[in-house]
Amino acid sequence: MTSTPAPTAVAAPGNAARVLRLVHEAGPITRAEVTRRTGLNRSTTLALVGELVDLGLLREERPAAGSPSTGVGRPSPLVRAATDVVAAAVTVEIDAVSVALVALDGTVRARLVEPQDRPPTATEAVATVAALLDRVRRPQDGEADGAASSRSLRLVGIGVAVPGTVRVEDGTVQYAPHLGWHDEPLAAPLADRTGLPVRAANDANLGAWAERLGGSGRGVDDLVYLNGGASGIGGGVITGGRPLSGADGYAGELGHTFVAANGIRCHCGAVGCLETEASRDVLAAAAGTRPDDLDALAAALAEGRPEVERVVERQVAALATALRNAIHTVNPEVVVLGGFLGVLLDHVGDRIVDAVRAQSMQGMTDRLRVVPAALGADVLVHGAAEVAFRDLLRDPARITHAVAVTLPAATLPGQTTAAGTETTAAETDTGTTAAETETETEHDRPAVEEARTT
Ligand SMILES: [Zn+2]
Repeated sequence: MTSTPAPTAVAAPGNAARVLRLVHEAGPITRAEVTRRTGLNRSTTLALVGELVDLGLLREERPAAGSPSTGVGRPSPLVRAATDVVAAAVTVEIDAVSVALVALDGTVRARLVEPQDRPPTATEAVATVAALLDRVRRPQDGEADGAASSRSLRLVGIGVAVPGTVRVEDGTVQYAPHLGWHDEPLAAPLADRTGLPVRAANDANLGAWAERLGGSGRGVDDLVYLNGGASGIGGGVITGGRPLSGADGYAGELGHTFVAANGIRCHCGAVGCLETEASRDVLAAAAGTRPDDLDALAAALAEGRPEVERVVERQVAALATALRNAIHTVNPEVVVLGGFLGVLLDHVGDRIVDAVRAQSMQGMTDRLRVVPAALGADVLVHGAAEVAFRDLLRDPARITHAVAVTLPAATLPGQTTAAGTETTAAETDTGTTAAETETETEHDRPAVEEARTT
């Protein structure tokens, strides 16, 4: 555990959190860019970054030799979020309970998976997550401290992505149809069992947030996210840069909005829900592919067989109706479609946005873009990690409450052991290189600011 840094007179409460969040979301980033984007003065940024480095939350690197320079000063140091501060991102599915250790810089450091023969109960899911974490919390036998140090991580909390509605107030799963859970406490028993702070949320709400931070909705403040997966269609909405939660946390259930008067009865009890009218399994059956093989589905759709196209037409129409309703409610800039809906979008292209435009008020869709999701299978891992980091990002001093964990030994990047433990090396696409210079003379603003690509 790191020592507590000396208090800095320049650090107003909340500014350290602003810097940490910025580097977490936009990093790696030069210190000059931190100054520019926060609007803080240079000496304050210097002190705050130093404070966060002392806490082990950020790392500063001298820019590589040969970095572009304006000739008026030394290149600005590059600031990165820590790779050893992690959140446990939990996903509960009908056939597996998984825990990924995701670092503050977005790197997935380890994956722990426990396959399930049948959908786990909430109690079983809690026990499984706790057991998986016990495996990495126990000091590894017969290992010298020095050897373990490169694999030592600090775990700050747990985030759980639930395929169902979750009451934000206490992390109780109100209804998860495919797991068969009704009113199941989840966050509280998991916190009791692990001693760690736990936040649970609807999977698509977390997916929306993850796509906004690092996917197709990057930097977009108003977006609608729809994901078509094994558990039907989940939805999430970001409005004004914040996740739309609602009174209980149930907002964004676009899969159960009404799209067809003579529709099929849904498991939710209603008739004509988007999720029954635009169904992955129905489309896959028409195309003759396995429901979870999206590559095969894309290939089958590309054949353009008339009987498959009829199903595509119906599903596109249902989707356009749901989007019409969502768009008139929240006026998004971007609609992000994931899972089989992304495959459908790739197949029909502008037909979706054209169908939405044809039934929208003038002006409503002028700026609208409908795009496929970018994060793929890891979208929920990143979303769940994000919710687990929330308290730390608000109060960096909380890092002192983190618990020590050790990466599983004897696994190579990408390799899965018999125990189902997979350790991965850096997986993020942090290929962005910031090349920027900061003058070391006394100016609050650097001479050259923008060389960063996003
Ligand atoms: Zn429904």
